[in-house]
Amino acid sequence: MNIVLLGAPGAGKGTQAQRLVEEFGVAHISTGDLLRAAVKAESKLGRAAKSYMDEGKLVPDKLVIDLVKDRLDSDDARRGFILDGFPRNTAQAVSLDSELSELGRSLDGALLVDVAPEVIVKRLSTRRTCRNCGYTGTEADVTCPRCGGEMYQRDDDKPETIQHRLDVYQSQTAPLVDYYRGHGILKSVDGDRPVDEVYADVKKVLGL
Ligand code: AMP
Repeated sequence: MNIVLLGAPGAGKGTQAQRLVEEFGVAHISTGDLLRAAVKAESKLGRAAKSYMDEGKLVPDKLVIDLVKDRLDSDDARRGFILDGFPRNTAQAVSLDSELSELGRSLDGALLVDVAPEVIVKRLSTRRTCRNCGYTGTEADVTCPRCGGEMYQRDDDKPETIQHRLDVYQSQTAPLVDYYRGHGILKSVDGDRPVDEVYADVKKVLGL
């Protein structure tokens, strides 16, 4: 199973990816998680990426593409992967295609988790993330229901940054829906429903 997840920030890509990983044991490659870990570790990559992330802008392609290449080549990803938050623009999609063909692999599907923009704004502004394990919850979660860690609001989930991230999504990432439709591998689910219902549909459209 080699899958790309598409959808606006807050559409529920990460949550659906976590479910697929738990059930099918594939690798979850979330560029947002990898970049946040790099920022936390204050690595060279983290220092280069931080200001873009804080402003809700895309981190330069080269940095993200190298990060994904490394990860795709690791042992667990050879069994299959869910890419979450990558590609974010056409240049990244083209580079992913060529990297996979070099590895003798290809995508089985691009899955759009479809949610209307007004729902997204509400979800992102009430979203809280676990500082320890990355679990995604809401402001009702005082501590992480999974590991007991501290829940916090990501800087880029603050109101001033949310609109900017949605604009970036519309202008740069949404065109990938047509890109993958053109490649004949686009699948879509309505993401504005309870998590379990969305997940049942995800498995159905992916033929799992
Ligand atoms: P996410 O957790 O996917 O919403 O990503 C958080 C932030 O990380 C984004 O707003 C970008 O600044 C950066 N980011 C994540 N994935 C990418 C990507 N594929 N290309 C460029 N920037 C990215």
